[in-house]
Amino acid sequence: MGLAYNTYLTGPNIYGCKNCRSHLSNYDDIVSRNFRGQHGKAYLFNNVVNITTEEPTERNMTTGRHVVRDIKCRGCGETVGWKYDKAFEKSEQYKENKFILEAELICEVE
Ligand SMILES: [Zn+2]
Repeated sequence: MGLAYNTYLTGPNIYGCKNCRSHLSNYDDIVSRNFRGQHGKAYLFNNVVNITTEEPTERNMTTGRHVVRDIKCRGCGETVGWKYDKAFEKSEQYKENKFILEAELICEVE
């Protein structure tokens, strides 16, 4: 199938898609490990590469109302987390334009 991704990250700790191992983000880009996704533990990242974003939808979460988009791995089409477009609570606005990756769906890659 050839190279399934365009961006190739370098560094000691790269996170990739568990399914196809496309590079997704970097250990240094983790903002918080204190999140929960649909599959359990999830991390908040400053930046994620090699993904496609879905249409924005409004979701009520335990931390309030948010506009989010599901994000999919560009390599295999698997949903790996979501992106925060907008948070309505002031205390949650640090998450805007950041990304959640579900720990269960990613792995450390070389
Ligand atoms: Zn993938």
